[in-house]
Amino acid sequence: MTTPLLDVRNLSKTFVARRGFMGGESAVVHAVSDVSFSVAAGEAFGLVGESGCGKSTTGRAILRLVEPDSGAVLLKGEDVLAANPRRLRALRRRMQIVFQDPYSSLNPRRTIGQTLTEPMAVHGLGSARKILEAVRMVLAEVGMPIDAANKYPHEFSGGQRQRIGIARALVLRPELIVADEPVSALDVSIQAQILVLLRGLQQRHNLSFVLISHDLGVVRHFCSTVSVMYLGRIVERGPVPAIFDEPLHPYTRALRNASPVPDPKAKVIMGKLEGEVASALSPPSGCHFHPRCPHVMEICRGVYPSWVQVAPDRGVACHLYPAGIGSTVSAAAAPGR
Ligand code: SF4
Repeated sequence: MTTPLLDVRNLSKTFVARRGFMGGESAVVHAVSDVSFSVAAGEAFGLVGESGCGKSTTGRAILRLVEPDSGAVLLKGEDVLAANPRRLRALRRRMQIVFQDPYSSLNPRRTIGQTLTEPMAVHGLGSARKILEAVRMVLAEVGMPIDAANKYPHEFSGGQRQRIGIARALVLRPELIVADEPVSALDVSIQAQILVLLRGLQQRHNLSFVLISHDLGVVRHFCSTVSVMYLGRIVERGPVPAIFDEPLHPYTRALRNASPVPDPKAKVIMGKLEGEVASALSPPSGCHFHPRCPHVMEICRGVYPSWVQVAPDRGVACHLYPAGIGSTVSAAAAPGR
């Protein structure tokens, strides 16, 4: 078996939140619990779920922009969480992040040229002449004119700023990009252009992506594999489009039914995802989705469901699919499809 480019194993992260008058009381928020997945070289992997489900924290924990409490992150077998500062800097060169809001992630007082040369200078990647050449190349690659290097972030539109954010990630020639809601702040027509750009970069450089999005349409368009997260945990994982065409988990089904359908001829009934996501400060007992689930059973209220691998590339955590049932479960048999 080949080693995946990225292997995330049982990743967990908690935060301590202050609550109550004057912030006197504290509570533990389980932002990410026991999250595992792997990403092959050149693969686009999606993490999808509603706001607050832990997908962005997972993305940041992979790069140690937040320090995980436990678990493992392996980049081509090398332990990212055990890396000392010098090794971590080298590993971060190979893993980059693109943020949702490029305006707030770009320094308004630095020209685009300064923003793009800085990471290369920090990593000691060549002479000033080589660095300038690399900046010129990367700007052209993301469809920006060369003179953009002399301008400031406020001189660009949202779509152009996201191209610059992508250029900043790309300039170090990473193997993996964590893209955290990279198009959700953009108009729909610009979203499509940015996704086409990312797809081209993926194919040209055999780049791997962890694409974090609340938008099923974006994940469906861009990713080949997806994990669905709910309140800090992965509840279903599998290939695209099977996950969206034949969802097993009631939450995936509800998300799918609540998503706009890009094809006007498609016979998908638009629904509404009932209820609010529970607070991560006090998640419901048992299956965290049980207060919103139309199939809730007594066991769901008290016991968190085990992970069931229903096929080699497909798994789900739901009591509708008892542990041990294995590959006898078919998507077609999922209740309430
Ligand atoms: Fe619904 Fe129970 Fe499955 Fe949770 S475990 S999604 S409550 S059926």
